[in-house]
Amino acid sequence: MNTFRDFARTCAELEAEKSRKGKISILARYLGGLEPEEAAIAALMMVGRTTPERGSNPLSVGWALVREILSSGATQPLMPGLKTIRDIWDSFQKISRISGYGARERKRMVLEAVFGGSSELEREWLLRLLSGEMRHGVNRGLLLDALAELAGVTPERIRLADMFLGDLMRLTSLAVGGMVGEASPKLFTPFRPMLAEMAVDVSDALNRLGGRAFFSPKYDGVRVQIHKDGGLVRIYTRRLQEITESIPDVVAEAVEKVSARTAILDGEVYGVGEDGRPLPFQETMRRVGREHDAQKASAIIPLNLKVFDVIYLDDVEVWHKPLWERLSLLERAVGPDILAPTLMLSDISEAERFFHRCLGDGFEGVMAKAANSPYTPGRRGGYWLKVKKVEYLDVVIVAAEWGHGRRRGWLSNYHLAVRDGRDGSLKMVGKTFKGLTDEGFRQMTRRLLSLKKAETEWGVVVEPVTVVEVAYSEVQRSPFYDSGYALRFARIRRVRDDKDPSEIDTLEKLERLYKAQGGGGRDSGGN
Ligand code: AMP
Repeated sequence: MNTFRDFARTCAELEAEKSRKGKISILARYLGGLEPEEAAIAALMMVGRTTPERGSNPLSVGWALVREILSSGATQPLMPGLKTIRDIWDSFQKISRISGYGARERKRMVLEAVFGGSSELEREWLLRLLSGEMRHGVNRGLLLDALAELAGVTPERIRLADMFLGDLMRLTSLAVGGMVGEASPKLFTPFRPMLAEMAVDVSDALNRLGGRAFFSPKYDGVRVQIHKDGGLVRIYTRRLQEITESIPDVVAEAVEKVSARTAILDGEVYGVGEDGRPLPFQETMRRVGREHDAQKASAIIPLNLKVFDVIYLDDVEVWHKPLWERLSLLERAVGPDILAPTLMLSDISEAERFFHRCLGDGFEGVMAKAANSPYTPGRRGGYWLKVKKVEYLDVVIVAAEWGHGRRRGWLSNYHLAVRDGRDGSLKMVGKTFKGLTDEGFRQMTRRLLSLKKAETEWGVVVEPVTVVEVAYSEVQRSPFYDSGYALRFARIRRVRDDKDPSEIDTLEKLERLYKAQGGGGRDSGGN
């Protein structure tokens, strides 16, 4: 079972099997028949890796070298007997460590031994491995499902374990050894933080969370995961980079104000200006990004720390406890000035008041969280909803699509454009079918048909004269529209017959809004 020949046979079997379920059981059976350490190697090679996921150099083997070896016939068996997957893996690690003078020749020697005595089938899969593309339809997700099957746990549990461990080899050996339960949050091993979805407004958030939720301010800063063991504190970003060195003031604050002996906490840091109000995201980033001279930087831009969740506390895992319970633990574990204020609200107007107070205090909006939810690392499970300030723009309708289902017979998906101030042309920024009543759709359909310039497969192109005010929650970069931007969650607020199409908002304004949002860095997960 532990030979590379078996590995290659299994790969071929996986390639021939078309159904996902079938692939999962082939893989589960194969890995389950190996020793935990071997299964760990096989799992990584199954997804096309020749080196561990972290902390290793790539092999850097050129195709020219591989071709030379294959055509020179220097693939005779150098070792008697069949090679194991571990032999192959160890050879790969050896190659990854070779560098400097004569590297190519030294790599050649090891590679010749790898290919030595290989059958055609083994050679085929060695080549695919070296190219990094197995093409047998096993990706990381399918592998996780196979590990779940073989460990007898749910796919969710395996994904959670994967999040906490961040190490596929260890996860595989635990799964094969029947010890997935061991895969839990560990001090000084950062994992991806829980994520939020967007809500249109507080009433949407309350609705989606069952009419009752915990509300806290939404800080526009840098997400931090704080690991503490006695006097030792390390802090990581949402991309798992350690930033302990660049924020010594936050570290000191955590040492002083977290009374629990051991803890893993989730929170946010943001810069504060001279007036004590939060600074824009970019300013916080400038401060946090500065590792040299961190002391000096902390004098210029002080950082506030706000902690809003706890994953591990005094040697006990608490991530699976409901949020209300985690919050009450948190309250006892950290000082009041680093605790994010959190209110349980069920009344829409109270929630709205809180939202406006947060905006007034200079925050980005609010976060609403389900009271009974566990902490789900790396996931947007719909338990956390962010509500930001709604923005309005005046845009013009340039085309419309015929609706389906309930909206059949109406022109209902409107193409929206802003004006490019440089040449006066119209540039598209998105589509929406939201915001109008049935009567509104009827009127709009009549109006747009009377403005028809051309018919298309999907609807009509119209004279661009209908100005509408749209609400949206975010400007995003978009490759789909010629403006280069898209309005997220756009919906029509009202038709602005009082406005002339020459008065609509411009692309330049959109660019400004995008930048003011902290453009780009955040969408791509920069904080
Ligand atoms: P966004 O970056 O717009 O997707 O919003 C989600 C981010 O808001 C999280 O990743 C946190 O960094 C941040 N955040 C700010 N305040 C809170 C809070 N009270 N609870 C959770 N996350 C928060």
